Amino acid sequence: MAIRTRFAPSPTGFIHVGNLRSAVFTYLIAKKEKGTFILRIEDTDQERFVEGAVDAIYYTLNTCGLLWDEGPDKGGDFGPYIQSERMDNYKKYALELVEKKEAYKCFCTEERLASVKEKGYAKYDGLCSRLTDEEVKQKELEGTPYVIRQKTPDTGATSFTCKVFGTITIDNKEIEDQIILKTDEYPTYNFANVIDDHLMNITHVVRGNEYLTSTPKYTLLYKALGWEEPTYVHLPLVVKEGGKKLSKREGDAYFADFVQKGFLPEAIVNYIALLGWSPEDNEEIFTLEELTSRFTMDRINKSPATFDVKKLAWVNSHYIKKLSIEDLKEICMPHLVEHDIVQDKSEDWINSLITVFKDRMSFGEEIIDLYNEFLEIEFKLDDEGTEFLNQEGVNETLTVFRNLLTDVEDFKAENIKPLIKQTGKEAGSKGKMLYMPLRIATTASMHGPDLPQVLSLLGKETVLERLNLLIK
Ligand code: GLU
Repeated sequence: MAIRTRFAPSPTGFIHVGNLRSAVFTYLIAKKEKGTFILRIEDTDQERFVEGAVDAIYYTLNTCGLLWDEGPDKGGDFGPYIQSERMDNYKKYALELVEKKEAYKCFCTEERLASVKEKGYAKYDGLCSRLTDEEVKQKELEGTPYVIRQKTPDTGATSFTCKVFGTITIDNKEIEDQIILKTDEYPTYNFANVIDDHLMNITHVVRGNEYLTSTPKYTLLYKALGWEEPTYVHLPLVVKEGGKKLSKREGDAYFADFVQKGFLPEAIVNYIALLGWSPEDNEEIFTLEELTSRFTMDRINKSPATFDVKKLAWVNSHYIKKLSIEDLKEICMPHLVEHDIVQDKSEDWINSLITVFKDRMSFGEEIIDLYNEFLEIEFKLDDEGTEFLNQEGVNETLTVFRNLLTDVEDFKAENIKPLIKQTGKEAGSKGKMLYMPLRIATTASMHGPDLPQVLSLLGKETVLERLNLLIK
């Protein structure tokens, strides 16, 4: 049977890294087998609905290349693909379950439910499941509001099998008679997902393992409706080092946070695919196409996956290296502007800046650290630097270099570069005794990126000023 998977986000805000990981795995599982990847918007929790969140979902999936075959905007044979437009289905099947005595109308008030809880019950006590048909009719005639609850067995056990976590069995007495249809006739997530996955012919339900504990309820619903269960693929938790949750406050929870810091969507997808999955060899850099052909469900891991921003940065640096200067500039520009670095700089200067740091950069925002480390320094020699410059012949080398630079009109790297050699010739210095004094006397450091490029970025005035300061 052709594989059909769905990514079913709730439009409650930006896309969380954990959600995006579900999207990536859901996409790969379908595409690996040339199956269908579906986007379904689960917006039945109206209280949590956030304006603009659906657009954020489209934007994220599109920029990540996780293109869906069926969805709200694309259409398809199983639409609508937005749950709030599928309301009739939920009511219809909820009533069918009531008819079959697999669900019941519950008229309990909030106060009564609170008192049940207060008495120490861990779940709803099933009072309304014991109402007679006449009692139910009477309450309906009186117009008492009700919800519909799933009727779960009190004895026995329910088992289901997940591709990753294996077979899981839960005692039925632990399963609550959960609400499936609310007073306002909106379904709960736990009901809607079952109805839609069935009606949309979903073959593989891929989601985070936080849904493992709810799955027995789904199993019972499928059984009650006489439907075949899909294959479950629960993905391991994504945590930070030390088992902590990714957090909004620390800026590592959302896809958008990383894009904003200058990470590339391709790199994020690449890294995220490794959160709970690994290929047979140790390779780690993959395009989406490569991932699609390499991905296998049986290599999805059970144990929590650690989200390591440093590792993501490492993966990202591979992608940065492949970018053109123009494209990398686009990523760095918002940061350079925000830090007032480029307001009075020419295009050439900005291009050189990007060129100099491209190989040292892991993500866009890092251009600021690099700029501060190598260009925006307090010009102060340390003891080692001072000692180096005190060596015999250094003063002569610096003087020749200064004189040659003074005549340069266009202070570009390619014009500066030959003057280093020429300095060596004229001052009779070479190797370390040529390059080191020039670097130390202009940057106060013994290492750094390509010197002619750095000098051109610093500008003629600054470079001459620094040399003059040190020449005796
Ligand atoms: N709407 C659910 C969520 O955003 C979907 C879970 C599922 O994939 O079934 O978490």
